[in-house]
Amino acid sequence: MKVFITGGAGFIGSHLIERLLERGQQVLALDDLSTGSMENLEPFLGRKGFDYRIGSALDAPLVTECLDRCDVTVHLAAAVGVRLIVEHPVHTIETNVKATEVVLGAAAKKQKPVFIASTSEVYGKGLKIPFAEDDDLTLGATVNSRWAYACSKALDEWLGFAYFREKKVPVILGRFFNTVGPRQTGRYGMVLPNFARQALAGEPITVYGNGQQSRCFGHVKDAVEAVVRLIGTDKAWGQVFNIGNDEEVTIEQLAHRVKAAAGSSSEIRRIPYSEAYAEGFEDMARRVPDVRKLEAFTGFRPRTPLQQIIADVLADQRARKAAND
Ligand code: UDP
Repeated sequence: MKVFITGGAGFIGSHLIERLLERGQQVLALDDLSTGSMENLEPFLGRKGFDYRIGSALDAPLVTECLDRCDVTVHLAAAVGVRLIVEHPVHTIETNVKATEVVLGAAAKKQKPVFIASTSEVYGKGLKIPFAEDDDLTLGATVNSRWAYACSKALDEWLGFAYFREKKVPVILGRFFNTVGPRQTGRYGMVLPNFARQALAGEPITVYGNGQQSRCFGHVKDAVEAVVRLIGTDKAWGQVFNIGNDEEVTIEQLAHRVKAAAGSSSEIRRIPYSEAYAEGFEDMARRVPDVRKLEAFTGFRPRTPLQQIIADVLADQRARKAAND
């Protein structure tokens, strides 16, 4: 099987390439290197079964050519990270919606199967714990840029379902919950690589708000295992799945755990949201996935314990620090 991955040089994309090559499958990766990096592709250069193109997922002829040469497409190319979204809302909306239109349009010509990456952000401010795939979406006002990301991804999901129902394109939608692990950069605001870097540098660990907001962190290796299994499961086409770990932690607890695991003497410092992001920023209080559907369809659910995830992220940040020192 040959898999076309948009956003292949990104954090999740590069782990997916690794997993597919390990399984003896072929990969064609596309990336515009906006948030992805060549460094993520380096381990695969020259490997049998691996090929890549530098280009945009908005480039319809290029996407069509790549997609036609492969059996299945995993569409990961997107604008990600809360900081990027708040600072560049036009780029976020355009990239997320147009690229998915291009990919689905190309897939429809040949009835080729597509996995589309969505996000737990689509649940928005919903208070239900845990979030199940058929729960309502509770988004905030349009004046707040944060929700543009959720809306753009929700529109991707509508498009995915529309192509499945109307044009008979086999589509799977995967909602990634906070996915973390080696190779993720803290540059776009993600909390765990940030905390790990701060703890190792002896800098203050910056907890936004009161730190009582919670998240569930899934190891990227588990996330890509879920994708590999889903695209190999016939009955998963036309369905949406949560992809995440359901071990919950508050951001304040996370700061303490990272600090302890790093053996760091960093101060844990609270930063008001208004300083961390733009005025009026809204965070979500809790976000826990219901992963029963994923497990029922694939026999798999992400289970790597948070302690192991923290250890892996610290090891990765240590290696980066050593390379830069
Ligand atoms: N956060 C934090 N310090 C940081 C970065 C993020 O306290 O340096 C908080 C952020 O406000 C949110 C949580 O950590 O409540 C997770 O943030 P992230 O951007 O990783 O993902 P999100 O779940 O918001 O998409």
